[in-house]
Amino acid sequence: LWNSVRDELKNQLAPSTFEETFGKVKRTAKEENGLIYIICPNTVTKFKINQVYYKSIEGILKKITSRQVKFKFVLDEEIIEKKQDSIDIPKISVNNLNLNYTFESFVVGESNKRSWLTATKVAEDPGYFVNPLYIFGSVGLGKTHLMQAIGNFISEMHIDFKILYIQAQEYFSDYTKACADKNFEAFEKKYSTIDVLLVDDIQMLEKKVSTQEQFFNLFNEMINNNKQVVITSDRPASKLNGFMDRLTSRFNSGIVVDINQPDFNQRVSILKKKAEEMTAKQINDDVLAYIAENFTDNVRELEGALNRVIRMSELFNAEPNLQFAKDELQVLIKVKKPKEDNNYENALSVISDMYSIPQADMLGKSRQEKYVTPRHISMYILKTKYSLTLQQIASIFSCHHTSVMSGIQKIEKEQEENEELKLAIETVLKKIGG
Ligand code: ADP
Ligand code: MG
Repeated sequence: LWNSVRDELKNQLAPSTFEETFGKVKRTAKEENGLIYIICPNTVTKFKINQVYYKSIEGILKKITSRQVKFKFVLDEEIIEKKQDSIDIPKISVNNLNLNYTFESFVVGESNKRSWLTATKVAEDPGYFVNPLYIFGSVGLGKTHLMQAIGNFISEMHIDFKILYIQAQEYFSDYTKACADKNFEAFEKKYSTIDVLLVDDIQMLEKKVSTQEQFFNLFNEMINNNKQVVITSDRPASKLNGFMDRLTSRFNSGIVVDINQPDFNQRVSILKKKAEEMTAKQINDDVLAYIAENFTDNVRELEGALNRVIRMSELFNAEPNLQFAKDELQVLIKVKKPKEDNNYENALSVISDMYSIPQADMLGKSRQEKYVTPRHISMYILKTKYSLTLQQIASIFSCHHTSVMSGIQKIEKEQEENEELKLAIETVLKKIGG
């Protein structure tokens, strides 16, 4: 069959062209799953056949046979690889993409719908749908995942594409190293003949002018040749500081999409999906909801919390139920809260104002009743509202942590009987916004 196709190609092409590309291409005895393996003498030939001639070869095949077969053009060594691992078709393009970052494993919701849709279109039609695609959003919201999903998708559809994923930081160090060594060979090799360029965290090039200069060339060359470029950043291009205008304006010339924080339902969906990927165990919905409620900032945190619950339950051979999750995550939630809202100083001034006493006395050692109650209330608020540790509170009040503990306990107990105290605490909480 190959010989017939070959003869037909010979008729269609100029003799020198034919000889140059197909002269040394030979068929193998290998045929499986409707694929006939054809060996190319080198990558250039393979690339050329797949890029330029594949369509017409398919056309010829259709004309001369009714069999459902296709040719697969490979290098010698790929066949050898194939023998060792006879189930999967070998993954031919070698790239550094994380194979878990796919469109299938990406949970879509309000926060990322537009980005996701645009990304799928870019992947289906690299270089032609929009170029460049610029994705921005804060940390842990799925930019890298989405970008690599584009790469993984394209790499499946175009096995011969050279797809390069790099952190902008890596580009900077490659370039700096080439400059220092005065040797650009490796640099040029790595950054030439790329079909798809994925540059992650472009903000890392801020103020790195000569690297930007260099990148500008690569970027333009890609765009001018309809080669897809995807860029991610933690902010919109207009907010990049220390960037060449001509570069940032080029970033805006394609499509710009952003990824936002997922809402509660979306967080639960993400957790469901991750739980399925991580463990065979069934994780109850109340556990997932608890995690989704407490980890709201980004997906990486969500994943981290879920991961902890699952791994710990495996380690201790315990049921990952709600109580278990609460116990395990307590530490993480505690360290998180004061970060979000560490304005406890404001609370201290609210309390001293309310009791019309100097703050220094409230924080001091005087045992007068008019200082002691507000002091204990303050300790109680710092603990419950700001999640400070007993040690931290002790150092604010220059006392021993056991005194803090007994102060807090006193408030907890008295609150139940003393209506006035209860009201005072409610007022403080209202004033500090909680
Ligand atoms: P970024 O690059 O924006 O900092 P990443 O892409 O590294 O974020 O995402 C952090 C983690 O969260 C990754 O493990 C990623 O798989 C996961 N993730 C983020 N968004 C989603 C999503 N929508 N669906 C599934 N997983 C997600
Ligand atoms: Mg990232």
